Amino acid sequence: MPRAAGKHSPAPLNLDAVDTADRLYASLADWHETVTDELDLSPYMPTAYVAGKRLQGISTQHAHSAATMAGRISTHLDRACIYEWSGEMVTELCDVVRAALKRYPDEERPLYLPTPCPACDMLSLVRTAPQAFMGRAVISCRTCKETIAEDLYAWHARRVLEEMAEREEDEVPA
Ligand SMILES: [Zn+2]
Repeated sequence: MPRAAGKHSPAPLNLDAVDTADRLYASLADWHETVTDELDLSPYMPTAYVAGKRLQGISTQHAHSAATMAGRISTHLDRACIYEWSGEMVTELCDVVRAALKRYPDEERPLYLPTPCPACDMLSLVRTAPQAFMGRAVISCRTCKETIAEDLYAWHARRVLEEMAEREEDEVPA
């Protein structure tokens, strides 16, 4: 029975993220079941999934099941493609994944830095997070394409701030 408005305790986590994960998992599990049945594959019962029942968040076991189901669908995708429902499956799975990635990107967004570019003086330096494990962040200028090694950025920022302070001193009328 739903509680009256204003009687909810604050949730200890982002429920929208849980709902998004549930939608992804449920959609994958539904299509996995269709592929398994229609292609007469060996049965695989994903973790705690009951068709038609609403899920309440996913665990590491669900993540393992999701990877297994995605792998099974992927392996048999060429055989599944002859069925009428395959277009709907691809569209739906792409839609739920796209919606989840839009809300929760799996890459860190580029960060504009507060220091002007040493080459063109524009405030257009951007730090892009490493794109691979043990990779390096890239600091580059969106205006002139100058790049700065991340370990030199602190030195660069200090130098630019000192130059700006000197310019301000020079501009103060005597
Ligand atoms: Zn520049």
